[in-house]
Amino acid sequence: MYDILIRNTTVMPMTEGGGLLEGYDVAIAGQRIAALGPTGTLGADATRMIDGANRFVMPGLVNTHTHMGQTYHRGTAEAMLLQEWLDQDAPISSSMTAEDVYWAAMLACCEMLHAGITIFADMFFHEGQVAQAAVDSGMRAQVAQGIMEQFSGDDLGRGPAAEQIARSVACAEEWHGAADGRITARLAPHAIYSLSPATLRDTLAAAKEKGYGIHTHLSETTLELEWCEERYGVSPPRWFEEAGFLEVPYLAAHCVYLSDEDIEILDRDGVGIAHNPGSNLKLASGRARIPDLTERKNLAVGLGTDSAGSNDSLDLLKEAYLAAVVHDWPIGSTPARICLRMATCEGARALGLADEIGTVEVGKKADLIVLNLESSRMTPLHQLERTLIYAGRASDVEVVIVDGKVVLNGGTLTMVDEGHVLREARERTARLFQW
Ligand SMILES: [Zn+2]
Repeated sequence: MYDILIRNTTVMPMTEGGGLLEGYDVAIAGQRIAALGPTGTLGADATRMIDGANRFVMPGLVNTHTHMGQTYHRGTAEAMLLQEWLDQDAPISSSMTAEDVYWAAMLACCEMLHAGITIFADMFFHEGQVAQAAVDSGMRAQVAQGIMEQFSGDDLGRGPAAEQIARSVACAEEWHGAADGRITARLAPHAIYSLSPATLRDTLAAAKEKGYGIHTHLSETTLELEWCEERYGVSPPRWFEEAGFLEVPYLAAHCVYLSDEDIEILDRDGVGIAHNPGSNLKLASGRARIPDLTERKNLAVGLGTDSAGSNDSLDLLKEAYLAAVVHDWPIGSTPARICLRMATCEGARALGLADEIGTVEVGKKADLIVLNLESSRMTPLHQLERTLIYAGRASDVEVVIVDGKVVLNGGTLTMVDEGHVLREARERTARLFQW
């Protein structure tokens, strides 16, 4: 007896070398994928049947970098550089209450589930509220309480570094493994330019002592690169390597400016890079060397939306499209396939979760999405990967399953009163943005 049986569908497993499985059934028992087989071979004994005809099933999308507390910032900026944006945002983000962060994160969860995103890696303040939003909406999450100081000469009232590190550790201790393992946690030193070397080293020492990974920003702009080289005489990746950060699971957002030597430094198991093409383009940060990075064997490149403040949507198919069209992919290469891997299995590897999620395989956690193929936009269908990346949209997602539970069905969220979330978001935004 299965809990869910998706019948007569096409499966895009995203396994190494695994092609499309047409005319297949997918069975889910508890939190995991229990069986895959040609239609009819798994029997019909399931609590819930989902008709997969004219649809396809793929792994849930993995969003490797967000700041969900900033979802109220959608549509507040354009034609602005990163530093200007950070300066504009600082007083608003620092005045947010824990409840404000919770409802911003709920708003983000709603948007992400509609877009087929089943897990996000987040970094913000009041991060426990973000974890709670993931639990309440049915999502999987990797949370990390942010640590940030010396920011534009203003400490944002977040307290001395030692307290911030303690809060980041406490958040990880409280949430790592919560909700039957749906929540994992890291520590989040914001970036090399917003933290003193002592704070960075103390954060790493705490991460090593407690066994947590790191989520940080790295080599995002030329300004950061020049600042780091001038101050420390090395590139940001070299600084982090010399300080010992690559000895723990290390997730680096952006990595827009990397030298060949930097890529050598980062190309090791356990290093994940979150590529955020929409945010990088909007903030005029530049184009990361993604075709060079995705060639490497050890480092893992995932896709991220960054926050709604610098993107402005949380739609990973849009990011995958941007990544497929904005880079100078070698003639004859397969950017659609590479970007799909970044959005799924490689994103899972970047978060250190490849054993559990990122592919459709028996034994893995049942984090799956079902997309509609019966539309003018998806017709004709010469090659599914290309059609999905170049023509697909969030609105093609019909069903989202996380940890074996249907959390979006026919475009409706099953665990969240979305109307309530929108009302809270509008009211809180009106109070925070009085400019
Ligand atoms: Zn970021």
